[in-house]
Amino acid sequence: MPNEISRRTLIEMSVAGAAALAAAEAQAKSRPALAKDQKIGFAVVGLGKLSQGQIIPGLRTARSARLVAVVSGHRDKAERIAAAEGLPKDAIYSYDDYDRIAQDPRIQVVYIVLPNAMHAEYTIRALKAGKHVLCEKPMATTIADAEAMITAAKAADRKLMIAYRCHYEPKNLAAMRQVRSGALGKPRLFVTDMGRQATLSDPSDAWRLDKKLAGSGGLGDMGIYGINAARYMLNEEPVEVRAWANTDRNDPRFKTVDDLIAWQFRFPSGAICNGSTSFNYNATMSFELWGEKARLRADPGAFYGGNKFAMVDGGKFTDMDVPEIDQFEREMDWMADVVRGKAPMVSPGEEGLQDVRLIQAILDSAAKNGAPIRTDWGYKRAVDPAAVVDIVA
Ligand code: NDP
Repeated sequence: MPNEISRRTLIEMSVAGAAALAAAEAQAKSRPALAKDQKIGFAVVGLGKLSQGQIIPGLRTARSARLVAVVSGHRDKAERIAAAEGLPKDAIYSYDDYDRIAQDPRIQVVYIVLPNAMHAEYTIRALKAGKHVLCEKPMATTIADAEAMITAAKAADRKLMIAYRCHYEPKNLAAMRQVRSGALGKPRLFVTDMGRQATLSDPSDAWRLDKKLAGSGGLGDMGIYGINAARYMLNEEPVEVRAWANTDRNDPRFKTVDDLIAWQFRFPSGAICNGSTSFNYNATMSFELWGEKARLRADPGAFYGGNKFAMVDGGKFTDMDVPEIDQFEREMDWMADVVRGKAPMVSPGEEGLQDVRLIQAILDSAAKNGAPIRTDWGYKRAVDPAAVVDIVA
């Protein structure tokens, strides 16, 4: 049965991912780290799946960053996590006393890991408290919120970085360099599919299926990886978007958010992107780029580990042999190095805003059954990750 095959494939991929993460942890231990008191102190806001599964473990092995505080609506959970991480009780904050972080010199960076619609408020409060902010994707659920976050960072003269972990991930970086080197010839077609089955009974998915907290359905949660990958692989910005949606409103998951969305981007070079996202199809995080001379295949291309990248010439596949790292540790170390003045900002608020604007353009076009929407508003990324981020940390 096709379903069983794909389920088995996903299990194999996650086993490969776990092995890769273990190897990355071993590798991290062998790399020189800053002394504890020189590391940049991170407060993690929202102790859900990502914080507990990836971010806090990443901070344990990071070279330049460390966990110094947690912010949570659940005191028991926060006390348990703080005790396990060796944090004192005065390093636990609630959403109500969050603004007191202004008086806590241990905290230099606040990492926002909350439901999407809460990103703007907690980012702006942290910036007003004088802290730098690393904020999860999607940056915000509205263009106005994303713009307000950028304005607040400028007013506070603090850094605002969006957590685009693929900008720091070795396989994605190696792939970007292949494209920039001309190995594929002129890029013609980018195809990406990013989605999975969402489950209402899982609290982590329940808010993702609630437009008030999530902003959009699979598009902001998973599709954003495809939108962003099209842009960083091609190193240009779409000038026109068309999109179509297909949502079964009788499915209890899709009372407020869209399900299947397929979109097209047209790029200035003539390249075209065909993208899709869904919270009701078999799990995938894949992309593929056809050049005139060769094809680059990433399937999966944006998992936490175990990504498989290959160069393809006709039917001949050549795997790209690039080492794995802990992507979260790497991204937080990068943010810490930005704060220390040792690394350039690669994924600033403006990069997050561009995706929020493109998400809105896709939704607007889908609402008009594929009507073309101009997106040539002049954004150009300040720094190409392929030019500045080293492949092995
Ligand atoms: P979870 O639902 O697992 O965690 C979110 C946490 O936010 C909750 O556990 C809770 O923490 C807190 N929270 C505060 N108010 C609410 C509310 N009204 N409803 C639900 N939770 C609330 O989500 P994830 O950890 O999976 O995702 C968090 C963010 O991280 C999202 O923006 C998501 O897009 C992003 N993400 C990014 C990934 C990446 O690879 N970069 C992967 C996965 C997620 P507490 O109980 O401590 O208050």
